[in-house]
Amino acid sequence: MEAYDCIILGGGPAGMTAAIYTSRSFIKTLVIAGNPSGGQLLQTSDVENFPGFFQGISGPELISNMRNQAEKFEAEFVDSNAIDISGSKEENFKVKTDSGKEYEGRSIIIATGASARWLGLESEQKLRGKGVSACATCDGYFFRDKTVAVVGGGDSAMEESTFLTKFADKVYVLVRKSKDGLRASKIMQKKAFDKEKIQFMFNTEVLEILGENKVSGLKVVNNQTKEENTLEDVEGLFLAIGHIPNTDFLRNFIELDHKGYIKVTEETKTTKPGVFAAGDVIDFKYRQAVTAAGMGCEAAIDVSRFLEEHA
Ligand code: NDP
Repeated sequence: MEAYDCIILGGGPAGMTAAIYTSRSFIKTLVIAGNPSGGQLLQTSDVENFPGFFQGISGPELISNMRNQAEKFEAEFVDSNAIDISGSKEENFKVKTDSGKEYEGRSIIIATGASARWLGLESEQKLRGKGVSACATCDGYFFRDKTVAVVGGGDSAMEESTFLTKFADKVYVLVRKSKDGLRASKIMQKKAFDKEKIQFMFNTEVLEILGENKVSGLKVVNNQTKEENTLEDVEGLFLAIGHIPNTDFLRNFIELDHKGYIKVTEETKTTKPGVFAAGDVIDFKYRQAVTAAGMGCEAAIDVSRFLEEHA
C-alpha cells in the first residue's frame, strides 16, 4: 500500500481548505471526510458571512464547492469516519475507518470538528434550521424585530444573547440553575444583565418547542416550583449549552485537554510530530466556517514544511 503524503480527517471547512492547499502543492492527499461529509455546514441553511458570497450561499452548497475545488487538484476522498489512528512520523501513520479500510499517511491533519450539544427534544430535531439554531452569529440576523430565547448559563449564552440584542426585540435567557449557578464569567454576565432587551429566567427548562414548520413558542417549566408556562412570542431558539469536540477516537493517540479538545503546542502543531490539527477540534472560541478554513490553510502549510524537512 502506497502511503499518502497527507491524510486529512474531516470534511468541514477546515479539512476541505487544508485539502485544497495540500493537493494544489502536489502533496498526495486523502480526505476521510465523514459520512455524510460536510460537517456542521450541512445543517446551516443560509451562510451570509462567508467572504466572497455577497448574496449568501447555503451551507451544503458552500461545502460542496470546497470539495469540488479540492477534487480539481486531485485530492482523493472517502466518505467514512476515522475510528482509530496509530503510528508515528518514523513508521507512518495508519488510519482505520468505519467502512473497514486502513490507510497510511506520512502526515495527518485532524479537522474532525465539534458538535453542538442539543437538548435532545423531539421538537428540537424537527425544527432545527427552522428557528432552532446552535449558532447566533450564523442565524441571529434572521430574527430582526422578533423575540428569541437562548438556553444556557455559560459564556456562550451570555455572548450569544448579547449579540442577539442587535437584531431581536427581546431575548429570553433560560438558565436551568439559579442566578448563583451561572457558569459565565462576571464580566460577560454583567454585559448581558445590562441589556434592557434581555430577560433572564432562572431555574427554567424547555419542555417543548412549539410549531410545525417554524418556531411559534416555547413550553417551559420552573424546575423549583414545577410551574409550566408558554412563551408564545418566541420565534427563534438558540442553544448555547456547549460543544463536544469529535475526538473520542483520538484518546489513546494524542494529548487532549480536559474538555476533549486537541492540545496544540504552536499554531496547528499537536504534541505528536507529523500530526496537525485545525478548526473547531482545537477552537472553542470562534467556531466560524471562515476561521476553520483559515486554520485549515495554516495546517496545510505546516504539513508542507514538515514533509520538506522529513523528505
Ligand atoms: P459551558 O460548558 O461553560 O456552559 C454550558 C451552559 O449550558 C451551562 O450553564 C450549563 O448548565 C448549560 N447546560 C448544559 N447542558 C444543558 C441542558 N441540557 N439544558 C440546559 N442547560 C444546559 O459552555 P460554553 O459554550 O458557554 O463555554 C465553553 C467554553 O468556552 C468556556 O470555557 C467559556 O469560558 C469559553 N467561551 C469563551 C468566550 C469568550 O471568552 N468570549 C465565549 C464563549 C465561550 P449547568 O451549569 O447547569 O451544567
